[in-house]
Amino acid sequence: MDVNAVCYNHPDRQANKGCWRCQQFICIDCSTILFGQTYCGKCASEVAKISANPDKPNLLKREINSRPLMVVIIIITLIIAAVEIYVMTR
Ligand SMILES: [Zn+2]
Ligand SMILES: [Zn+2]
Repeated sequence: MDVNAVCYNHPDRQANKGCWRCQQFICIDCSTILFGQTYCGKCASEVAKISANPDKPNLLKREINSRPLMVVIIIITLIIAAVEIYVMTR
């Protein structure tokens, strides 16, 4: 790293770290460590947002997608049963 690099938030301070995501030079006050990597404030909030959100919808999606055939079979069975009951009671 360039020893003369300055923090992009503090032009008067020497940067001793670089953002892992955007490679901006940042001072220790501006660095946020997330998942063992150093990020600038902006990237840290974005990384935190990305890592907080996507897992849950993905998990839900995966659970729903793992048994679509079962759901379709159950719905078809219910429709057939309903039609049979309707026909029988006429
Ligand atoms: Zn960054
Ligand atoms: Zn700084």
